[in-house]
Amino acid sequence: MPLPPRRPAEFVPDATAKAASPPSQAQIPEKPPGPSACVETFKERGGVALPLASASSTGDCGIDDPVTFERIDMPDGSKVELDSAITVRCSFALEVLIWTRDDLSGIAARENAKLATLAGVGGHACRPRNGVAGAPISEHASGNALDVAALKMQDGRTIALAGRDEATLSMRSAISKSACARFTTVLGPGSDSAHKDHLHLDMRKRSRDFRICQWTVE
Ligand SMILES: [Zn+2]
Repeated sequence: MPLPPRRPAEFVPDATAKAASPPSQAQIPEKPPGPSACVETFKERGGVALPLASASSTGDCGIDDPVTFERIDMPDGSKVELDSAITVRCSFALEVLIWTRDDLSGIAARENAKLATLAGVGGHACRPRNGVAGAPISEHASGNALDVAALKMQDGRTIALAGRDEATLSMRSAISKSACARFTTVLGPGSDSAHKDHLHLDMRKRSRDFRICQWTVE
């Protein structure tokens, strides 16, 4: 039987809060700021946050409200792993989590499969776009992007996102639709030579909400 959804922390009644008299300023202990509301939401929805990777919030390549993770606990009790831990801004981590949980798992289920791993992933990287010197700074630098090469299913099937396998065409086509609906930038095969073997997703904001969806599925 599936477990009932976990109650968000803020709805748990705190019986002691009303009973105790408010502490004076001197009694409030100094403690480091806890996780942001975004990180709390990320965890509540199944994201498993790890201790932050170092150097995730310094200099030109700083990430606002970073989160490091390599696993998502799915509502049915299964787990989806990333093949390496990524560090991204929390708002972006939430998009990846929701995409995985709500879109990718449904697409896999329609093919009688269950998602196990996001493979070939990359998150934060302090570099210009496509690693080309002098190019504008990449969305990877601010933790607002994800690279992913393949999806692995629990039954051992691997869906190479940039592949041309006829057997995975319907799945890749559905993944493409869902990615372009959720992310503001989708670059894959058919966009440029830097993206012929993997998919790039980001949430870059552009004027008039312009979106880029360049992934030729064939
Ligand atoms: Zn990328």
